Amino acid sequence: MSGMSRRQFLKGSALFASGLGTLAIFGCAGNSSSSAASSSASASSAAAASGEYKLVVPGKLTCISNLYFPPFESMDDKTGEPVGFDIDMSKALAEHMGLEVNWKPSQAFDSLVPAIKAGGTADIAIAGMTITDERKQEVDMSDPYVDSNQSIVTKKGSTETKESLNAAGKKIAVQAGTTGEDWAKEHLPAAAAKDGIVPLDDIIAAMTGVQTGSYDALVTDLPVASYQIKNSFSDLQVLEPIATGEQYGIAVSKDNPALTKAINEALAKMEQDGTRAQIEKTWFGSELK
Ligand code: GLN
Repeated sequence: MSGMSRRQFLKGSALFASGLGTLAIFGCAGNSSSSAASSSASASSAAAASGEYKLVVPGKLTCISNLYFPPFESMDDKTGEPVGFDIDMSKALAEHMGLEVNWKPSQAFDSLVPAIKAGGTADIAIAGMTITDERKQEVDMSDPYVDSNQSIVTKKGSTETKESLNAAGKKIAVQAGTTGEDWAKEHLPAAAAKDGIVPLDDIIAAMTGVQTGSYDALVTDLPVASYQIKNSFSDLQVLEPIATGEQYGIAVSKDNPALTKAINEALAKMEQDGTRAQIEKTWFGSELK
């Protein structure tokens, strides 16, 4: 945020807040009967129930993600440990299930669903991952825990528009295998026809590339764009929020339905006991309320 005036900051915050107004989080859907039955139960009975589901490491909830998607997941500069909204969610999930959390090293976003489907390396992928029909063919997705949308990001003061970006010769960076890539291919077909939609490993590289002029724009999830612009890329702007109405879910193997059920029960409890609200406050600040 260095170099940013108070006015710019407030403007950024307003945009951030309006973008995240849709980050209303949780319908607290489903499983009300089972969570009501277990809401007074202790962690030990949750642990007893864990016998029903499979874990790659006994007693641990082993998690994978792409750790270049702040504030949902990133690596702490100093320790290299995973940090973020999803990391706190994973810890709270594990706690509510009477388990410990076990984080694996970052991997490419488009390798997460195949890894969960293949089994053996992790129990869940928690990665700001939108629930889509395509993914639901491959893995089970938990109940939604965050609402999200897309955004087009350009340099501040850029004269581009959504229309001008849809032209041969334009370069638009996306993260490979994401809903942002899908959106760009579908809605910027003239750019896409000339290989103008460029899939990258992570969105930080995309932002740096827009900053240096390698790309005219990037498309990514609005909460991530807003957070990054506010905290690290003050020379970029959200050109346009795109209301895609996405919801994030946690990916679990189809061979492990009892785990999906337990995750959904824990999510419902975390909504009721305020854990989720606390994690939201930590990562998105109280100005959103
Ligand atoms: N929500 C987007 C998707 O699921 C992007 C996720 C990400 O890049 N981590 O495709």
